[in-house]
Amino acid sequence: MTSAIPCVLCLSGHDPTGGAGLAADIGAITALGGHALGVITANTVQDTSDVRRVAAVPPILIAAQLEALVQDCRIDAVKIGLLGDAAQVDPILDCIRRLRVPVVLDPVLRAGGGAQLVNSGLLAALRERLLPAVTVLTPNAAEARVLCGGEDMAGLLALGVANVLVTRGDEPGGKVVNTWYRAGQPPRHFEWPRLAQRFHGAGCTLASAIAALLAAGRPLDQALEQAQAYTHGALSRAYPVGAGRLIPGRSIPA
Ligand code: PLP
Repeated sequence: MTSAIPCVLCLSGHDPTGGAGLAADIGAITALGGHALGVITANTVQDTSDVRRVAAVPPILIAAQLEALVQDCRIDAVKIGLLGDAAQVDPILDCIRRLRVPVVLDPVLRAGGGAQLVNSGLLAALRERLLPAVTVLTPNAAEARVLCGGEDMAGLLALGVANVLVTRGDEPGGKVVNTWYRAGQPPRHFEWPRLAQRFHGAGCTLASAIAALLAAGRPLDQALEQAQAYTHGALSRAYPVGAGRLIPGRSIPA
């Protein structure tokens, strides 16, 4: 328990392209000076265009991995991405209730290529059980609509989540306008130049960057702003590894 490097516990899927999932988390967290502890929630079959299959890791294995890490490691923040099924929510909730550190949840409901990644049981478990334990939720606009059942994105706060950053990279418009909702405050908008390309793993990069900055002790407003700036930079350095969407360039050039 002597590490001075901020440690982020990531609960994420494995994407063999290295664009999204745990590989994305490790890239972003490392670039921002942190260390990623990684628990895989699901293996996937996918390419840079779309996800074809998701195979959930058994909850008992996730519980054992979390226990080993909690007993041994310093954990300063948690990042949750793709979940394999609703049965994984129990061990994850147990863990984050014990840790009492900031939790960033990127609700991976649909892949950028269009594949549905959650069933109704997992969606209900996310909304009703996990969201109330989350510090920052980072849905894109389409995911926010599914979670709130319409256009009232501030209404997500009523589900018990403390902060919601809705990203709009997936929406049309000359600029990307992301919006931070929190109780008792007016929404705050962040504007970013729109990049022409399409990306694979942008959401994982942003959520991990927020978690890394919170793990390092940054106040939430700074963490949200700096993580978006970092992600915008990574997207502007994106590169192709396949025929589909580009992979964010997560290493910060020297
Ligand atoms: N696969 C995994 C493991 C993911 O975590 C995600 C998104 O978070 C995706 C695929 C889909 O990524 P994208 O929507 O950027 O293509």
